[in-house]
Amino acid sequence: MTTSTASIRASKRDLVTEVPGPRSRTMMERRGATVARGVGCAVPAFIEAAGPGLLHDVDGNTLIDLGSGLGVTSVGNPAPEVVAAVHEQVASLTHTCFLATPYEGYVAVCEELARLTPGDHPKRSVLLSTGAEAVENAVKIARAATGRTAIVALDHAYHGRTNLALALTAKNAPYKQNFGPFVPDIHRIPTSYPYRDPKGMTGREAAARAVEALERQVGAENVAAVVVEPIQGEGGMIVPAAGFLTELTDWCGRNGVLLVADEIQSGFCRTGAWFASNHEGVVPDLVITAKALAGGLPLSGVTGRAEFMDAVQPGGFGGTFGGNPVACAAALAAIRTMRERDLPAKARRIGEILTARLTAIAAVHPEVGEVRGRGAMMGAEIVHPDTGLPDAESADRLARACQEAGVVLLTVGTYGNVLRFLPSLVMPEDLLGDALDVLEDCCARLFG
Ligand SMILES: *Cc1c(COP(=O)(O)O)cnc(C)c1O
Repeated sequence: MTTSTASIRASKRDLVTEVPGPRSRTMMERRGATVARGVGCAVPAFIEAAGPGLLHDVDGNTLIDLGSGLGVTSVGNPAPEVVAAVHEQVASLTHTCFLATPYEGYVAVCEELARLTPGDHPKRSVLLSTGAEAVENAVKIARAATGRTAIVALDHAYHGRTNLALALTAKNAPYKQNFGPFVPDIHRIPTSYPYRDPKGMTGREAAARAVEALERQVGAENVAAVVVEPIQGEGGMIVPAAGFLTELTDWCGRNGVLLVADEIQSGFCRTGAWFASNHEGVVPDLVITAKALAGGLPLSGVTGRAEFMDAVQPGGFGGTFGGNPVACAAALAAIRTMRERDLPAKARRIGEILTARLTAIAAVHPEVGEVRGRGAMMGAEIVHPDTGLPDAESADRLARACQEAGVVLLTVGTYGNVLRFLPSLVMPEDLLGDALDVLEDCCARLFG
């Protein structure tokens, strides 16, 4: 095993080689010779340790992390509370399989999910390991609870990489290309994408457009569930116009359709509330969680109205690893940290900083077509200023320039042209400011 020569690690952005450095490049060669090429890589710097808002690579470089491992390490990386809980749990009980013999941690996580997710109705939860697996189970629940089969997803949706989740996911390449056919009876309807919708379209109008497509193409009486991301992540950090989610939720309620909120990315304090649904007072029938739930360990869940959840027969849920004791211990510690450090407030503060700085950049560079998001879930859409058309190439060059300067900034979106800001919620403000200085410099260099 190769170890770094950097014995003392920097607590700020610090480059001692180019990025990627020589050790990373050697590891990239090993990677290329053995890891399947279908496994993507946004930044070819191998990471060996992390700190608050920071990633330390094998060449001794310290990078500012604006991605948090895709919105996972909200409470820190590593968060001391999570580390302690994991150490203690792994040393006393590593695994039993909850279906074989239960343990308290699983139940305690379900209690927290019942407390924290929107709505004060009786709730039940099932725990799984990945986001996509939870999405699959939400579909099972909706079908069992309604006796209907059709599932409706939105334009620009992302729900994961298993076959059913891919059927729900909108974007073809690279996610779906060559992998079909997909699960049948999945239908796609328009969403609310204010930046690209007709000027002035309200949330209510966008919801009417969605419902019209749904009723005409699928038929309300056939629909088991409408699956939404309250803020679309992979689709491009898209915040629907106010009223869109509430209208859709009301329509679901009137038509016996389950409203399923995929809060995998937007949940657990990311947007400045415990869940993005909270911003509009939406109470989903089912809420799907994963990513930040367990502070970096793999854990996901579906939480919903007891009568719907319990429509699934005993034994209808399961999986060897779902709700693993170590992941549950990590989740309990992560949730405690979110509460004690009031991470929703931290996310709001990060959102204020990001909005102010990005808006100032957009005022100088019309290539930044829109700045949007909530809390620490923000995007900046890069466009050709004359036409407003998506400019993925410039977004890519900008992200690469930031990476080379020591800032891990990723791109996202149906058109691949959105800069994505998902910093840790414990990101120190001076680091965030430095990262945004780098972005500002890169914009000046690229756009003039
Ligand atoms: C990441 C993500 C998923 C998939 O989660 P995995 O753990 O990668 O399977 C599903 N939905 C949304 C909204 C996500 O952001």
